[in-house]
Amino acid sequence: MSAVAVAVPVPFLDSLTYAVPNGLPPPVVGGRVRVPVGSRVVTGCVVETGVRVDPGVELREIEAVLDETPLLPTSIVSLCRWVAEYYQAGIGDAIAMASPPSGRAGRGFRMRRVAFATAQGQAGAPSGLGPRQRETLEELAGAPAGLPVATLRDRGIGADVLARLAARGCVAFREERDDRDPFVRSGLTAVAPNPARILTAEQSAAVGRLGTMADVGRFGVALLHGVTGSGKSEIYLRVAERVCRAGRRVIVLVPEIALTPAVAARFRGTFGDRVAIQHSGLSAGERHDQWRRIREGLVDVVVGTRSAVFAPAEHVGLIIVDEEHDSSYKQEETPRYHGRDVAVMRGSRDGALVILGSATPSMETFQHAETGKYVRVSLHRRVHDRALADARLVNMREEYAALGPNVVISRPLAAAIEDRLARREQVLVLLNRRGYATAVFCRQCGDTFDCPNCSVSLTVHGTRGRWRGQCHYCNYIVAVPSECRMCAAPYLEQTGFGTERVERDLAERFPEARIARVDRDAVRRQGSLTTILSRFAARDLDLLVGTQMIAKGHDFPRVTLVGVISADVGLGLADFRASERTFQLLTQVAGRAGRGERAGEAVIQTLFPDHYSVRLACAQDYRAFFEREIAFRRNMRYPPLVSLVNVVVRGRSFDEATQMARGLVGALARHAGVTVLGPAPAPLTRLRGEHRVQLFLKGTRRRVMREALRGALAKRPRLRRKVTVDVDPLNVL
Ligand code: ADP
Ligand code: ZN
Repeated sequence: MSAVAVAVPVPFLDSLTYAVPNGLPPPVVGGRVRVPVGSRVVTGCVVETGVRVDPGVELREIEAVLDETPLLPTSIVSLCRWVAEYYQAGIGDAIAMASPPSGRAGRGFRMRRVAFATAQGQAGAPSGLGPRQRETLEELAGAPAGLPVATLRDRGIGADVLARLAARGCVAFREERDDRDPFVRSGLTAVAPNPARILTAEQSAAVGRLGTMADVGRFGVALLHGVTGSGKSEIYLRVAERVCRAGRRVIVLVPEIALTPAVAARFRGTFGDRVAIQHSGLSAGERHDQWRRIREGLVDVVVGTRSAVFAPAEHVGLIIVDEEHDSSYKQEETPRYHGRDVAVMRGSRDGALVILGSATPSMETFQHAETGKYVRVSLHRRVHDRALADARLVNMREEYAALGPNVVISRPLAAAIEDRLARREQVLVLLNRRGYATAVFCRQCGDTFDCPNCSVSLTVHGTRGRWRGQCHYCNYIVAVPSECRMCAAPYLEQTGFGTERVERDLAERFPEARIARVDRDAVRRQGSLTTILSRFAARDLDLLVGTQMIAKGHDFPRVTLVGVISADVGLGLADFRASERTFQLLTQVAGRAGRGERAGEAVIQTLFPDHYSVRLACAQDYRAFFEREIAFRRNMRYPPLVSLVNVVVRGRSFDEATQMARGLVGALARHAGVTVLGPAPAPLTRLRGEHRVQLFLKGTRRRVMREALRGALAKRPRLRRKVTVDVDPLNVL
């Protein structure tokens, strides 16, 4: 019997096997089919054909075959199967990442009507045409591909004029596909390459080395470790050109939607409209059209955020992961994949070169470079030998002693800002914490203002008289009262501070400065981050305050000062990656200063000036940081020296969750080669009303760990829905 395996859109489910009834066209891997699941009929994707079925097994039948040729390339289907297996997700969850958007807006193409001059019209205007008709005909005769009717209407040429010309046989119409192009909507212009630009010696060496690797046409991974401002983008472009000239395609991943326009603009400058953009900020229609263009082979370069790693391009010869250390490559919902790691896996399947670029590589990547698994290409100098920003530490204990506990901006930082503003230079101020205040408590009874659904305090947002408390996990919002909810005393006090407070303090202190804030609250409206960044780039703004969003990859040549309000945010957390994150963030943000002709400076406020991640970021000494951190990871048996899987069990009560978790630990403990830690209360013991208990699997043999967990969960289908599995977790809070 001929059977096929189908991925269906049901969370956590493996593929299901169906019989193919006579009379249907043969299903193909990557094509869609309609299949029954329970009492429903759903659209699934074929992931395997010719599946062997034991005689006597009753199978349900496929109801319809929707595609006779693959919608998804078979290589992508195979990549999705790996993702589902490795990250312990359902195959349908993984296929969804690679599929074009479904739903009405995402289905089908948009068509448009185009008017063109016929042979008769080209031959010259017949007599008796009015001046308007004559002008229109001339315009059309000069446009060989014709002009969209909508465009003509915008120029004041109505349907009546065209209809009369058509009646005389001078003009005809045709319908054509109208691809929605996000690049046009965003109003960006391509940035042409500068042919006069001479690569630095380090850049040429890097292009030579990487180009040679790409020419081989086999899988390889290179870490491009270059200090901030060393000109990595130029290297990406040159290697991409070389790969395209050899007839292969390129995928470029960036960590943030806001970084795509600048990168895409540069690639457009070289590759014209054979550049597609893929990220979640596009409309469903744009996503659909971009996806189709890639699938049809009309695109040489795909630029996008993490899910672009699943782009349906074929003959991929190069995958670039820019700022590879960035944690936004990790998807924090099912399937919990890491875009960088999937990129490496894709490269190995496609026989492509994978370039991982960063000034502050992740511990994982650098370790692979140390052991020789990845090739390392280093850039030690900035372009034009510009100096790295001078970094200065301000010990906040001394500021508090001198000025009291409410200081947000230290004296050295205030003086430095004043100095830059006077010289009309630009400033970035970083605080990696949103909101106005981080907590509220009652000075009389000690009541804290916590989220009713999650075990966290509410963050205060807004302005005096209109304070609101907001949960950053479940988005619960409530007005902050003027009296305590418990004892009615009017002594509510706010503690801790976030970006909104910094913005206000700066505005009070520097009333003449043009200031904007960049964080998730400020940029919730789509596109406004791009707007703020381009205003800053155009020097319509003097000072940007923001979270880590301002630290990522941007190139602002007029920034000569970066201030860090509190370098320690995150250092107190019970997360083994806290030091790595702090080091990366401080190094990256300091790297935003002094990228133009004038030298840059970073002023970093901290309570722990002696902490190695703060000290070594200040010294911009990646190597020393790595040595220190890898020793810590080795001693504590943490990644990248062992593999880690985090399992969170959710229950209606703490006891219920603990019971379920104990059962799981019991089943796992029988496997040799897997160390199980826990169960223990998760750091967020309550989240969105559910109680959470967690356990960790540690080991060096991934396959054994994976199979142990898969086996234990397969025997407990009810538990499966109560469990979140995170393989290679980045965020263990
Ligand atoms: P990175 O990504 O390594 O931090 P960028 O690629 O953003 O650095 O380059 C830093 C700056 O140097 C950019 O403004 C870029 O246009 C410029 N640049 C890069 N290469 C050269 C070069 N060879 N000559 C002159 N300027 C360059
Ligand atoms: Zn909450």
